[in-house]
Parts: sequence; C-alpha cells; structure tokens
Amino acid sequence: MTAPKPNAGILDITPYKGGEAAVEGVSDVRKLSSNETPLGPSPKAIAAYMAMADELHRYPDGAQDMLRQAIAKHHGLPADNIICSNGSDELIALICNAYCGPGDEVLYSRHGFLMYPIAAKARGATPVTADETNLTTNVDALLAKVSPRTRIVFLANPNNPTGTYISAADLRRLREGLPYGVLLVVDAAYAEYVKRNDYSSGEELVRERDDTIVTHTFSKIYGLAALRLGWAYAPDNIIAVLNRMRGPFNVNSPAQAAGVAALGDVAHTDKARAHNDAELPRLTKGLEKLGLAVVPSVGNFLLLRFPKGVEQAQAADKFLRGRGLILRAMAGYGLAESLRLTIGTVEENDRVLAALADFMK
Ligand code: PMP
Repeated sequence: MTAPKPNAGILDITPYKGGEAAVEGVSDVRKLSSNETPLGPSPKAIAAYMAMADELHRYPDGAQDMLRQAIAKHHGLPADNIICSNGSDELIALICNAYCGPGDEVLYSRHGFLMYPIAAKARGATPVTADETNLTTNVDALLAKVSPRTRIVFLANPNNPTGTYISAADLRRLREGLPYGVLLVVDAAYAEYVKRNDYSSGEELVRERDDTIVTHTFSKIYGLAALRLGWAYAPDNIIAVLNRMRGPFNVNSPAQAAGVAALGDVAHTDKARAHNDAELPRLTKGLEKLGLAVVPSVGNFLLLRFPKGVEQAQAADKFLRGRGLILRAMAGYGLAESLRLTIGTVEENDRVLAALADFMK
C-alpha cells in the first residue's frame, strides 16, 4: 500500500510565493512587492463591497450577469464573450486544464509570469521557454520553439516582471506565425497602464479568430487584489469550454459588486493612471542616476538590475527591508541580480530613492 499519488508533474512544481508584507522587527513597512496600486480601490467599490454584507447567506450570481454586462459596456465587447474568474490566475489554470495534458508543450517567454509553468505542470504538460531580447519577448524566438506538441502559448503583454511589451504589429505577427489550433493567451493584466500608441491588448485578434484569448484582472489598476477578480474575452468555442470547467459560483458576490462599481468610477482609474504616468519616469530617472540599470517599463513596476550582480541585489534587498521597504526578489524568474519595485505613493517612492542612494554610496 502507498499513500495516494498525485498526477505526474505536480510534485515538479515550485510553489508560487506571493510578495511578502512584513519585516520582523520593523513597524513602518511598505509593501512594494506585488504590483498593487498605491491609491487603493475606488471608494465606490468599497461601498459596493460593504453593501453585500447582508447577502452573505446567498449564493452569488453564477452567470455573473451584471459584471459581464458592465465589462462589456466599458470595453465595447459582447457580454456573451466574457467570462469572469477568481483572479486571472484561475483563468490560467482553467485554460491549461482544458487545453493541455501529458506530452503537450506550453510555450512562453523566458521571463514570463510564473503561473504559466505552474499551471502547465499541474496538468502534466511540459513548459517550454523562448529566449528574449533585452528582456523583451522575441516573437521569432517564440515561433522557433513551436513544435507539433505545442498546445498553448502564453504571452503577458506587458510582461511581469520585466515591464516590457511588444507592439500590436508584433502580436499579430506572433498569432499569424503560430499554427491554427495552437491557443494564444494574451495576459493583459497591466494593459490599463500602457501609454503607447503601438500597443494593443489583442482584442482585435479574438474578434477575428477562434483560437485566441485575452485575460484581464481587477487586481492591478482597480485595486481589488484581495477580492480575486479576473476576466477573459474569448471566442464562443472557448467560452463554452471554460464555462464547463469553472466552478458554478467561482466569483463571489462582493467581488462582482465591487467590480461593477470600480468600472464605473472612471475618475478613480484616471487618477491611478495619472499617478503612475508621473511616478514611473520620475523613479526611473532617479534610480538610473544612482547607477542602477532600470528596464524600461510600461507597467506599474520597475525591474532594477544591480551592476555588481546577485550579491549586490541580495544585499540591497536586505538593506531596504531594514528600512521597511519590501521589494520582490527575482531569483524565481532567473533574474537574481534584479529586484522588482512596485510604484508606490510619492512618499514611498521617495523613501526607496533615499534608501537606494544610501545603499549605492
Ligand atoms: N498575470 C500577470 C502577468 C500578473 O502579473 C498577475 C499578478 N501577479 C496575474 C496574471 C494574476 O493576477 P490575478 O490572479 O490577481 O488576477
């Protein structure tokens, strides 16, 4: 007799570790490790969440109707082609559960988001990576790694943790270079922050085809990470599959209500975007002046590369923690000489600049 055996692949998974929030012995701690918004959620979203308190004995709307309608209206998309989820992480898992299995390959860019290999391995599929150029997705390198076993390609655009992106033209070139039948998942978790004319989160490809999905989240610019709320825009055939796979009540009622209210508070989202637009370049310049190599980011975070390598990055992490500033260590992404910094409030960003100035002296 043996203990129950998990399916092949599961024990090969390195469990995902979220950003830390506390430092022992330090009281005034600032968490800049999970790409959360420093502005918090819309007050209207908080009110909508609170208003659900009297309804906790009721099941949520399993059809997610109001939320899907609100997303559809906001983005100009058909509500029937929207599916909501318990964070976009759930979508990544659902997509792998539905479209890959043992013997299959799941392809993504070298420093792509870690949930892609985790979800692939959970299904016994093999994660495959393609090299990047200057920490940016290289479409030709991805296409060169496609094999007859490739079932899914995940592309975070912009990518976490690098903050870089590929243009709408490159995204189309990727889609058109992939064989029909290989599912392309464009993960647009940070799309709302991007201010580039040549960027697209890829909705036009979903409209034209039946083998492409775009995923989004309310965890970043909308500030609802705790509620776990994601969504995807997908063609009919894929919606029909994912609706069969998801739990019937996968999105709780307070999350649905808060999501609707958050979408409605355009002024709050604009404020979050304006804050990022001002602080991202200010921090980039300030950190470069200190001798750090800062990867050009279009998101709400920066990848800082330490010129003296891994030991210096580790020492900086320790030094910053001593001052109550938690950044994200990047060894899990193969970027151990780097730390990832989430754009915080002006005061937090000033504290990071001052601390790193002292560290780099
Ligand atoms: N995709 C990317 C690229 C991310 O950075 C994250 C959050 N770290 C997610 C997906 C998952 O977000 P959530 O599950 O909170 O929607």
